[in-house]
Amino acid sequence: MLAANTLEQKLLALEARYDGLLRATVEGIIIIGTDGRIESFNPGAENIFGFRAAEVIGHNVSMLMPDDEASRHDGYIGSYLRTRSPKIIGIGREVIGRRRSGEHFPMELAVGEILTEQRITFVGIVRDITKRREVQRMAREREQELRLVIDNAPIGIFTSDLIGRIGTVNPALIAMLGVPAAEIIGRNCTDFAVPQDHERFAQTLQALVRGATVPVCELQWRGRAGALMNVAAHLVLVHRPEGSSFVIGLVVNQTEQVESEEMTRQMREQLAHVGRLTTLGEMASAIAHEINQPLTAISTHAQACRRLIASGNADLPTLADAFERISDQALRAGQVVKRIRNFVTKRESSRETVDVNDIVGQVLDLAEVDAREARVALGTELAGDLPCVFVDPVQLQQVCLNLIRNAIDAMLPLADDQRVLEVSSREAEGRVELVFDDRGGGVPEHVRAELFLPFFTTKESGMGMGLSISHSIVAAHGGTLRYSDNDKGGARFIVSLPAVPE
Ligand code: ADP
Repeated sequence: MLAANTLEQKLLALEARYDGLLRATVEGIIIIGTDGRIESFNPGAENIFGFRAAEVIGHNVSMLMPDDEASRHDGYIGSYLRTRSPKIIGIGREVIGRRRSGEHFPMELAVGEILTEQRITFVGIVRDITKRREVQRMAREREQELRLVIDNAPIGIFTSDLIGRIGTVNPALIAMLGVPAAEIIGRNCTDFAVPQDHERFAQTLQALVRGATVPVCELQWRGRAGALMNVAAHLVLVHRPEGSSFVIGLVVNQTEQVESEEMTRQMREQLAHVGRLTTLGEMASAIAHEINQPLTAISTHAQACRRLIASGNADLPTLADAFERISDQALRAGQVVKRIRNFVTKRESSRETVDVNDIVGQVLDLAEVDAREARVALGTELAGDLPCVFVDPVQLQQVCLNLIRNAIDAMLPLADDQRVLEVSSREAEGRVELVFDDRGGGVPEHVRAELFLPFFTTKESGMGMGLSISHSIVAAHGGTLRYSDNDKGGARFIVSLPAVPE
């Protein structure tokens, strides 16, 4: 009696445990008989399929499958019972289920066989993998999107290993280089750089691999048939989740941009050259005067010598002195010509590290004649110990000369003793400034916005190109040209240039 009780208790305990297990598990657990009818349907299955247990128990399990699968299901059970050859028993697989709403969904199904003395039943364990599939689908879509972005990016993209061997290339890079992908993959990315840039590119790659942040590398690449391209190559080191690393290279073909910048530079230089010729043309009378003076002196001394020789009284020391004077004057005239030739000779623009005070000195040599003729007093206040600037000296001279000539023009209506132009230099927050102060009344408020525009002039015979050319020269040097009124009732023009760090 006691034994029977214990057995019953054990059975009850087992059933309770089994029941608890069925309830607790989030997977759907479905038990069916060999006739396919559902015998047990746990809460997990209720959640997944949307049926209450009472709605499905006693019905054929095919109600939980799409129609085409359902029609074959009884056949599967029959075939298994006959042949014992498992198609799904003991093997998990992914199948499609059907919810109460009729919606089909992906699920993982594992089927086991329960053999008791009396009969065979099957237990199916179902896991809804809709979410997992969704995540996988989104990941696939993102991967495809990324592929599309890379394939359609208008810039060249490649990946390489840490020594630069190219692994993948996108169509833009293939088009840029003009060679088939097969001839790019496996080659070292540094091989595409022209010999003179090869080392620099290789060093950039090495620095990147060592962990440094590297700047965009501007270099020349050689494509099909030796075509040269100006490219900007941006290299990035990427770490894979499992720890290994690779390099992504983004390559922009800047050939057209570089060419158009080069054209702009050439045009700016031509314009500047024309500007210098014009300025010189305007200064022609003063220059002629400047050269005329030594020529007249030479002629006077020469005539005196001739007279002395003709009179027979020529003594050697007097003649030597006269020839000395002739030579001095010829040198003086030669210097004027040299200064002018330096100023207008057409040449490639070249920048040098210079002291702006030296430039001011050279410009004053050129402008002095003009100023003297216009009875303008030139004063300078040049700061000592200025940092240098990196400029094309002739172009900076041209800017200064323009500003000086404008100041002279502006002061012509004044009385002689009021015609004063002061040129000063100073350092201001990492920049070097040249300041031109005149007393000519300044620029009226309503025309200031047009001051630096081409062809703006208030002079009868003005061209209106001086300030515009000066502005573009200064801007091309990374500087600014500004106007303000000064406290002398005149104009102040400030040329501000970046200082070269010590
Ligand atoms: P242009 O000298 O041929 O007129 P610029 O471009 O050098 O051409 O100058 C444009 C105009 O700016 C001048 O016509 C004048 O009206 C004004 N301007 C330039 N410099 C001064 C100055 N120092 N004082 C007053 N006005 C000036």
